[in-house]
Amino acid sequence: MNLTERIKKHNAAVRCNSRNRVCYRQACAVCKEDACFAPHELRSRLLRYMVGNEVKCERTWLGRWRCGVCGRTFTDHPDFRTAV
Ligand SMILES: [Zn+2]
Repeated sequence: MNLTERIKKHNAAVRCNSRNRVCYRQACAVCKEDACFAPHELRSRLLRYMVGNEVKCERTWLGRWRCGVCGRTFTDHPDFRTAV
């Protein structure tokens, strides 16, 4: 699967409006509890990447989650788009 297909698959998995939304993080970064997250909101970002000599630009969606234990919210990043 190439990067464009991975981005489209990720967007479809993140944009569903329920607890079935994909979450890449396994444990809360603050309290270290495992996967006790509730869906919060979505954040949209433009992602530029190279394919050969061409620069591609795709809109990606990043899921925001709230930890059910400590109440902190965080943005969940797929492996092809690291946090900056
Ligand atoms: Zn937590």
